[in-house]
Amino acid sequence: MKHLVIAIDGLAGSGKSTTGQVLARHLGLKTLDTGATYRAITAAVLNADIDPHDEDAVAALAARVHLEVDNQVSVDGHDVSDQLRSEAVNHAVSVVAANARVRSILVNWQRAWVESHGGGIVEGRDIGTVVFPDADLKLYLTADLEARGARRPEEGEASVERRDHLDSNRQVSPLKQADDAMVIDTTQRTVQETVDEALRALAASAKSEKIAAPGRGIHFEPDLHSSGFYRFCRALVYSFMWVLFRPKVTGPGRVPLTGPAIIAPVHRSAVDFGFSIFLTKRKVFFMAKDQIWKYKLLGKLLIVLGAFPVHRESADRSALDHAESVLQAGGVLVMFPEGTRQFGPEVTSIMEGATFLAARTDAVVVPVGIDGSETAWPKGQKLPRPHRVVLYAGEALSPPERTAKGRVSRSALRVMTESLRQSLQVSLEQASASARATK
Ligand code: C5P
Repeated sequence: MKHLVIAIDGLAGSGKSTTGQVLARHLGLKTLDTGATYRAITAAVLNADIDPHDEDAVAALAARVHLEVDNQVSVDGHDVSDQLRSEAVNHAVSVVAANARVRSILVNWQRAWVESHGGGIVEGRDIGTVVFPDADLKLYLTADLEARGARRPEEGEASVERRDHLDSNRQVSPLKQADDAMVIDTTQRTVQETVDEALRALAASAKSEKIAAPGRGIHFEPDLHSSGFYRFCRALVYSFMWVLFRPKVTGPGRVPLTGPAIIAPVHRSAVDFGFSIFLTKRKVFFMAKDQIWKYKLLGKLLIVLGAFPVHRESADRSALDHAESVLQAGGVLVMFPEGTRQFGPEVTSIMEGATFLAARTDAVVVPVGIDGSETAWPKGQKLPRPHRVVLYAGEALSPPERTAKGRVSRSALRVMTESLRQSLQVSLEQASASARATK
């Protein structure tokens, strides 16, 4: 399949729509609720006074009408959105959906929709088994009847149970889990937890390169020159951070005045990367979530400020290439060796990215301990609060030695990664000690 298709099947109220919508936002895809297509035909059947059990008449109607599913759902131009979740439709829809000819018409319609939308997240009952058996990722959501009933208060648990029974036991395309589907029980899970699991599964599959990443393909060429606009914005951020955090910089090492350098801070807060401007007057480059590039103007502004896009859900080769081009040009890059935000005073494990880039570009790596940012802007808090932050810039680490052939061995990489971890731990302790001393 050329487009990315994610199939979500499951019982009524298992969380398909909510999960699909959040997943779609993460991946920049459209969602199709196929339940709405069966509901729309059912509404049209009822509006035409046709008996839902009259298979021929129902199939003839389905073959005749023009269906549109967008922000609103219409049949032959007549908006039926308000009717879709009515009691009458809830009651009749599983009967209409058991009609083999209706199914075949709607399955074709659903495939055409996905084709014309360049892929999508499709949710229903038979998506992974019948409509898209080759989907890139198949989710099968379940939840206790009680939880599912509670998510459909206007319909009620009894009606949900009745539909589930009809949908699971009909002759054609009954609801059933595809053999290769990932089953997630959403009873006790938050939407974000379900979405995170799905994203992990997708990233682990070879299909992740199909993800439409908004930042992919943007033109990025590091401009080491600090333009007037850059200096203006930087001064703004500097003043803002100065007022809020009164950063105190200690430690023996600073960022060198010339040549490629990686500023490698510990990561405890969303503001951490901003502190790099207190360590050097040079322009600093950094990675930012590619979703920002959905907004073209903001994306352009960020590029001027030294950012380039990274796609979080996959191993993003282009982000690594951009990072390398910054260093090849002799620039300064901020990179968090811990990857994502961590908590507490320990630097337990770090990623190899910084060491790998240092080895390829002969950049030095400056470990930076940061104390206080976790309190100044903890995870989950909307706004930062005034709090003193202390930075400790450790001695810069030299890039790993090369062999006679100009290569860097795996073991040399591993050794440098471990010594960077230790230096980060020491720098964090030094920053904390210095913070305690200034209290
Ligand atoms: O998902 P939703 O609860 O809106 O679906 C309404 C009904 O449409 C289901 O109870 C089922 O009978 C039918 N349906 C189906 N196949 C799909 C999606 C929905 O049979 N792919």
